[in-house]
Amino acid sequence: MANCAIVGINWGDEGKGRMVDLLTERYDVVVRYQGGGNAGHTVVNEFGKFALHLLPSGIFRPDVVNVLGSGVALDLENLWEEIVALRAKGISVTPENLKISERASLLLPWHRELDALEEARLRDKKYGSTKQGIAPFYSDKYQKKTLLAGELRDPERLRTHVRELLEWKNLTLTGVYGAQPCSESALLSWLDEFGGKLRPFLCNTAAELAGAEAAGKSILFEAQLGALRDLDCGIYPYTTSSNAVAAYAPIGAGAPWLKVDSVLGVVKAYSTCVGEGPFPCEMFGPEADALREAGAEYGAKTGRPRRVGPIDLVATRYGVQMQGATELALTKLDVLGYLERIPVCTHYELSGVCTDEFPFPTALAETKPVIEYMNGWHCDLSGVRTWETLPAAAKAYVERIEAAVGCRIGYVSVGAEREAYIRR
Ligand code: GDP
Ligand code: MG
Repeated sequence: MANCAIVGINWGDEGKGRMVDLLTERYDVVVRYQGGGNAGHTVVNEFGKFALHLLPSGIFRPDVVNVLGSGVALDLENLWEEIVALRAKGISVTPENLKISERASLLLPWHRELDALEEARLRDKKYGSTKQGIAPFYSDKYQKKTLLAGELRDPERLRTHVRELLEWKNLTLTGVYGAQPCSESALLSWLDEFGGKLRPFLCNTAAELAGAEAAGKSILFEAQLGALRDLDCGIYPYTTSSNAVAAYAPIGAGAPWLKVDSVLGVVKAYSTCVGEGPFPCEMFGPEADALREAGAEYGAKTGRPRRVGPIDLVATRYGVQMQGATELALTKLDVLGYLERIPVCTHYELSGVCTDEFPFPTALAETKPVIEYMNGWHCDLSGVRTWETLPAAAKAYVERIEAAVGCRIGYVSVGAEREAYIRR
């Protein structure tokens, strides 16, 4: 059966977790292929409300095999806490339904420490890191200065490798930041504690995925963040440190031969952005507060208030292109029900010129949004389940976005719960 990637089109928090939870019914395997514990994918289902960080959002479906690919930032401690929290709510997480790539690199405690030290050094110029150690982790991964999960199986050799890394890392901790060095015994006991708990989940996930493919199983790739936070396509340096785009999914899954047959891009009915960086259509004041409250826009991981604005058709079209989206899910349409008229950013103005092209990152700071207003529907959409019964103004809004970004909106989500959506 066909494989699909579910990805974010914008700045993240579009509702990917919600869409993965809904669609996993049709897939046998769900793979996280990049990012780490900085993700916050909210899922509301019969078990309750969850913010998943590292675990794939297929973990709630008993027959789904969940995979953490080699491209993720494997934070053993955070992952273990997440597993414990899920188990406490009755969800089974076992080596049968969770498989961790032995080739995934380990995010170590010093990555989180370095993240915080660097954000502190930057003061008012910071990047808005979630301080989960993601940027220092990926730097080290590409420098080949961290551990692979599979090394946990050989304590003797692990100790030697840890000693080598420690010698090097302490030069940075003490010499660059003037911080305390990391002790070998502390690191080894951390690895022993959390490595011991997670070792049973490690395996050759490439072989697992090859087996699944051969057995005709279907695979869903789950992205973290959105196209505008992708390291190569996004608003650098206010991006994440990995590739969130669908084209990277088979690589980050550790199974680069796999085909991504369709790409479902998740777009929020308005814009939000958490953390720093240029956000051309940002709204301020009471208008912004009202939207933030209506959409409960506070970070799933950090609790930080998200910056908000109208839907940005320029950025969304760019995101659709970068993701190679074949279909879109428009989420949180219900949130806009309070508005008499709905602002839409149709173009950008840059150096006095109106453009619909997404600019080079450094030009974004001077970019001004061109706003048009559409009629609101001014009612509660949360109970609507069919396209036919959607108010005309809401249909017009969906069709306007679809036409502007050049991709079909096949799902309209009107609530956080699994069933609160319209299939067109
Ligand atoms: P993700 O990181 O892309 O998975 O998205 P987040 O979970 O960080 O943010 C999306 C938020 O919107 C979560 O709190 C969801 O429960 C909620 N949500 C998703 N879809 C809808 C929707 O259609 N309507 C409403 N009201 N909330 C939604
Ligand atoms: Mg999120």
